[in-house]
Amino acid sequence: MLKQISHIGIAVKNLEEAIQFYEKLGLKVDSIEEVPSQKVRVAFIQIGEVRIELLEATSEESPIAKYIEKRGEGIHHLALETDNLRQSLKETEEKGIRLIDKEPRKGAHNADIAFVHPKSSHGVLLELCEENH
Ligand code: ZN
Repeated sequence: MLKQISHIGIAVKNLEEAIQFYEKLGLKVDSIEEVPSQKVRVAFIQIGEVRIELLEATSEESPIAKYIEKRGEGIHHLALETDNLRQSLKETEEKGIRLIDKEPRKGAHNADIAFVHPKSSHGVLLELCEENH
């Protein structure tokens, strides 16, 4: 079952500069983490129940580098939290919705994540994620 918006992913060119901007707004960074499998550095900023996930590419091969090259900095994906990712993926696929990831993979914070194809979700790259607290 989908429970809530987990986070909003934002592609940035420079993580430190982006963090400074959000700190000027009075928000605080929880943690900075490198996710080698996706070639990104990630900073999470908690605001209420939702987080902002700032994503900086660590390689030109990174999906974030390619995104910025094509479309510039900006909102990259919307992440919805599920209590059971495998189940959610199965149900989503059964409804004929196209997935990028049929199997969960590891994201930041040790969460299990999978992406829904934006061709199926009206132009929004949707991430389904299951937190492992
Ligand atoms: Zn994300």
